[in-house]
Amino acid sequence: MAGTLYVCSTPIGNLGDITLRALEVLRQVDLIVGEDSRHTKKLLSHYQIHTPFLPSLYEGVERRRVGKVLQVLEEGKDVALVTDAGTPLISDPGYPLVRAAVERGIRVVPVPGPSAALAALVASGLPPDRFLFLGHLPRRAGRRRRALAQLAHIPYTTVIYESPHRVLSTLEELARLYPHRPLVLARELTKVHEEFIRGTCQEVWREVQARGGVRGELVLVLGPPPEG
Ligand code: SAM
Repeated sequence: MAGTLYVCSTPIGNLGDITLRALEVLRQVDLIVGEDSRHTKKLLSHYQIHTPFLPSLYEGVERRRVGKVLQVLEEGKDVALVTDAGTPLISDPGYPLVRAAVERGIRVVPVPGPSAALAALVASGLPPDRFLFLGHLPRRAGRRRRALAQLAHIPYTTVIYESPHRVLSTLEELARLYPHRPLVLARELTKVHEEFIRGTCQEVWREVQARGGVRGELVLVLGPPPEG
């Protein structure tokens, strides 16, 4: 009988943010697969977990690794899928493996935990009842602009992952398109320098511009358009 694939969330910065069940699963499985070995090794050594770890599950090599992981599962061994931070598959690798496992009838079990999108949303103060998750915007300027323009009539709060290199140009575009819509920039969630910059799109853009940019990991939470 095939083993089980556990999709296991890990902390997004604060090593304390891991569930008791995730620790138990990571200790008991036969193999952990993930991305960059440094991140996961730090977590595993902090919790003294000695389960074998197979790194390099990142875009490009991910598809090649899927076959190897399926083989392990089909030998009856249990595997935990992790990524460097947060929930696997959410703007992170893992989908090809989960898809292939489901197609082969292998049991897939979620071990839920942190994700930057939900952490930012629930502390943003913006309506959480219906929201759209965009992940990272396209890299090309034209496509990014179009993706943001499409939000004009979407009556939901929107969550966007952003990098410090591009945040100023995204904020400028948001300020141009939606000057008065509420926006929250959530920075370094769960870490020492956690911060929320709240205001309208125009205000948040001006604040970040005045600071000469912002560092660290960022999530943008854009409020819905006014009703009517
Ligand atoms: N799978 C992860 C999750 O569940 O949140 C997301 C991984 S994605 C490759 C990395 C992006 O997530 C970062 O560029 C940033 O936008 C966001 N992110 C991750 N950790 C964060 C944190 N501690 N604070 C703010 N944003 C974070």
